[in-house]
This record gives sequence, structure tokens and C-alpha cells, in this order.
Amino acid sequence: MKRREVIELARQIYDEDQLAELEHAIDYATDKHAGQKRKSGEPYISHPLAVAHTLIEWGMDIDSVLAGILHDSVEDTDATLEEIESLFGHDVSFLVDGVTKVSQARAGMRDLGSYLPQTKDNLSKLLIAVSQDVRVIIIKLADRLHNLQTLQFLPPSKQTKVARESLEVFAPMADRLGMGRVRMQIEEISFSYLNPKEFQRLKTLMNKRLGKSTRKLGAVRVEVERELKKQGVSFEVSGRVKNIYSLHRKLKKVDGNIEHIYDLMALRVIVADKETCYRVLGILHAMYQPMLNRIKDYIAVPKPNGYQSLHTTVITPNKQIVEFQIRTHGMHEYAERGLAASFHYHEEKGKKGYTRNKSTAHLPAELQWITQMQEVAARLRDGEEISQKQLDIDLFGDRIFVYSPNGDIYNLPEGALPLDFAYLVHSDIGKHAYSCQVNGKIHAFDKPLHNGDVVEIMTRKLSQPKQSWQELVTTTHARTKLRMQLRKLGIIETVSNAAAIIRDKAIRKKTKH
Ligand code: MN
Repeated sequence: MKRREVIELARQIYDEDQLAELEHAIDYATDKHAGQKRKSGEPYISHPLAVAHTLIEWGMDIDSVLAGILHDSVEDTDATLEEIESLFGHDVSFLVDGVTKVSQARAGMRDLGSYLPQTKDNLSKLLIAVSQDVRVIIIKLADRLHNLQTLQFLPPSKQTKVARESLEVFAPMADRLGMGRVRMQIEEISFSYLNPKEFQRLKTLMNKRLGKSTRKLGAVRVEVERELKKQGVSFEVSGRVKNIYSLHRKLKKVDGNIEHIYDLMALRVIVADKETCYRVLGILHAMYQPMLNRIKDYIAVPKPNGYQSLHTTVITPNKQIVEFQIRTHGMHEYAERGLAASFHYHEEKGKKGYTRNKSTAHLPAELQWITQMQEVAARLRDGEEISQKQLDIDLFGDRIFVYSPNGDIYNLPEGALPLDFAYLVHSDIGKHAYSCQVNGKIHAFDKPLHNGDVVEIMTRKLSQPKQSWQELVTTTHARTKLRMQLRKLGIIETVSNAAAIIRDKAIRKKTKH
């Protein structure tokens, strides 16, 4: 990557002052890294330039781009944070510090296959960095992506190590942030190094299959375009090909038979608004026979990372199976860029409220886990012990969505219990909970919630939390709130038991009616 390419791209986006800052940062970093080379033999500065270029492409704010330029300078040169702060401001130095800390945490992680107790501290550093500003992770992803793109210059043993770590930590991280395109890029490159034979085999298999179906799919596409035009819908259609790694994962589920994979190639229809999405779905279903169990409404019920789209798989009259993905431009942008989309300079110009602990203030419900993650990090900072199991549940586990009776959406880890929900809604609701209904039916406090459940917590002013509830919460958030309340109330076991009996009677009474 050349200085000129970065500046040219930046010129289309940032204003004069910001451009001047960028040039200043590039000069500074070039000077500091002078004489250093990448394994490829290129001058070292080509790497920070590539990272900054990616961050600009992702539409990140100028501070992130500056931090991208400077991200390796504190660790690898005699540059100091103080100097960076005085030259480029506190926000930039803060981001650089965050990225450096994450790098150190990673360097300390010897064996990622089992990042258990000895690396807890490192993982916690990662969390702390995230907790303070999620842009740190986005910069880190750009850094990792370029390191993967230049992986051929490293010795094989290192290649495998970097690839495995990317697949196990960075791809899920990108996915968590809704950054679909980056996740795919990371998976694709990592997989090609970890399992080159299988990667090649699947690539060949895929190409063979695609060759067969592309022409047929073209005919369907023309037919659909004609019909949508006739119905007065304005739209864009494009084909999307499944990536090799997700094909690999899916093949494992269907006994390796590629014939059983219906979405090798899908047609993506992008329209102006949500209503039109449903209209297009209706038009498609009037044209073709939909496969009933393959209609997915991720608009009404987004995926846990915020992804939205309608999916449907149809069978054409000549028995071709085609998947369609229907979404608005906004949903498409989010599907590709995820959280990075919300840092776009246009929205951020003149307001800096998204930094630090406020960084999640405007996050959509689907990304509530970030707030929850911040709480975990805060507790780690306070020196509290948190088990690996708890971290896995809070951070890396699958997520579900549940609703309050008035339709508010809440995001919880899979396996969450009613009291986790109660404490997420409000700590007072948790405190005074005495029974719970799920989808209109009484639901015991020890039974997990499921995706799509409508959960109602019945409260009573006199009802109080009890010690035994510690077995009835799974999230760090609920556990923290509950413990605080128990401590405050000075509740002891015997009292809790008495309360439990009273509550159980109340539930039994209610069930009888
Ligand atoms: Mn780097």
C-alpha cells in the first residue's frame, strides 16, 4: 500500500483539516518505522497504510484512521503515547493504547485451543479494551485482515497459528459486531491455510456446481426482474455465492452431499423500504412454490448480531431450487459492515458522544451484549474473579431474543433463565419477581427461555430476592444485581427459604386458576 493511495481515498471522504492530520500522522509513522521491513520485504509503513486504507473503506471516523496509521508505532518504535497525545489528541492516543493492549494480550496467548485460566488475564485485557471503545476492536480487525492477506510471507508454523487464532477469535468477534464481509474474508483466508486440501477440493466442487446452475439461475433472474418491473417495484438484483468456509461447515451438517445445499448461490433483491421487502416476498411466492420451512423473517426477528433480511427458498417450474434474500439498502449496508457502519463520519461529524463508555449509547437492541460485556470488563477491572465458563456464556455463546409483553426486544445468552430477563429489564423487576409467564403460560424460574418467547415477570412489592436465586441466574449482569440486592438486604439462607415457600405457594395458587 502506498501513501498516495490512502490520501486519494481519504480525499473523497474527509475535510481539509482532517486530511492534513492524516498526512501528518503518515509522515510521523513513516519516520518512526524508517528502516523496518515487513516479512514481505516491503517497508514497514506499507502495513499501517493498508490498515488505514481498510478503515477508510469501512467508513470509520478520522480518529480511527489516524490510530490505524499509528497502531504499531508505540509497540515497535520509540514513539510514546504521550507524544502521540500531544500531536494528535487524546482520542487518538487512547485508541492506539487500546490496540497495543489487545496486541499484547494476544502475544501472551500461547495456546488458543484452550484459552483457560492462565490466559484469563489476557482475555480480560481484550475485554477491557473493548469495553472502553469498540473502535479498538474494529481497528484490530483491519490489522488482522492485512496480516492474513500477507500471511504467505510467514513460515508455515506461524501461518497455522495466526490462521487458527483468526478463525477462533477474530471471525466470531467480527460476526458479533455484525461485520459480515470481514468475517467472511477472515474465514476464507484462514481456512485456506488451515486446510488447504479441503479448501481446494471445495473450491473445485463449487465451481463445477456453479457452472451448471449459473445459466439456469440467470433465466430465473431475468424472469424475476421482469415481474418486479411490471409490478412497479424499484430494486437491484445481484447474485451472491456462498463462501468456501461456510460451505465446509454446512456440508458437515448434510453428510457431505452438496446436492443438499440449496443456497450455494442466492439472488439478493435490494429495495427501498421494509414494506417493499414483504411485497417482493409476496410477488416471489406468487411466481414460485416456496419451501415452507425455509421462509425466514429476519426483519421482524433480527439475528443476534443485528442482521436483517427476508430469506426464502423457492422451487421453479423446471424444478430448480433458488434462495432469495430480500432487504433494504440500510439492511444491506449493515449486513456487510455491521457496527462499523455506525461510525460513519457523516453521522459523527461534530459529535463525539460515541467514545469511551458512551460508545454503546446508541446501539440497537441486537447489540445489547456489548453493554453486558462492558459490565463484565468493569468487574474484571475491579479484581473480581469470573470463571471461564461465565465468560463463554456472556461473550462467545449463542444469543436469543425474547420479548416483553409490550413488544420490547431483549437479547440474552442461550440458556438464560426468567430471572436473567427480569434483571435485564430492570433491577427492581428482578428484585420483586415472584412468578413468570412465557407465551401466556406459567413458567418455572429454573426453565430456560427460548428464542421468540414473550416473557412476563409478575412482581409483588413485598417479594424479595433470596440466596437460592443465585442458582437461577446465568448472566453476569443478573448475578451482579442480585448479589448487590442480597448484600443490601442482609438476607440469610433461612429467611430466603421461608420466602421461597411463600413464593412457591403463590405460584401454585396461580397455576390452579
Ligand atoms: Mn499491525
